[in-house]
Amino acid sequence: MRAADISDDISEVLLTEEQIHEKLAELAQQVVADYSGKDVVLVGVLKGAVMVMADFARHLPRHITMDWMAVSSYGASTRSSGVVQIRKDLDTDITGKHVLIVEDIIDSGLTLSWLLENFASRGAESVEVLALLRKPDAMKVEVACRYVGFDIPNDFVIGYGLDYAEKYRNLRDVAVLAPHVYS
Ligand code: IMP
Ligand code: MG
Repeated sequence: MRAADISDDISEVLLTEEQIHEKLAELAQQVVADYSGKDVVLVGVLKGAVMVMADFARHLPRHITMDWMAVSSYGASTRSSGVVQIRKDLDTDITGKHVLIVEDIIDSGLTLSWLLENFASRGAESVEVLALLRKPDAMKVEVACRYVGFDIPNDFVIGYGLDYAEKYRNLRDVAVLAPHVYS
């Protein structure tokens, strides 16, 4: 669905599907240049990063492998708990591999900083992060994110994989959720 289909639930459209695709194509070019000659494992963080992974990976004109992690998230709340729990671990051994974590959004940064440490301790050769969105004003811990799509204001956003209580993931655009929906 598009933002117009659920306009009552949205206070502002931040990014259209077209803007997102353009940015992912740009980031893909950078990644291709940076990882020339190297084996790359893309690790998507479920469930929010599914759309980013699907579109970003298809912009890459080279071989990669894909794996997925599921970690605890907000549940039905709009606040980060800071507690990270593995719900689904990787299927592959990342020892000696170049890992690129694919994320939908960096909010507090707590999830990613935990993942970065976790992957480093498994002996990955390198671990970098690609995030479509980042909220600089919400970050509680510094996370070195090599590839960032867009810096956005500190509002709760939905769409393009991002949910509120499991809804809105199938919105093609990224939009700010209207406060009346969650208050
Ligand atoms: P963290 O606060 O950086 O640890 O973010 C943890 C996870 O919460 C992200 O990977 C998202 O899945 C989710 N999240 C953070 N901010 C938002 C938001 O504005 N909308 C929907 N999900 C969010
Ligand atoms: Mg996520």
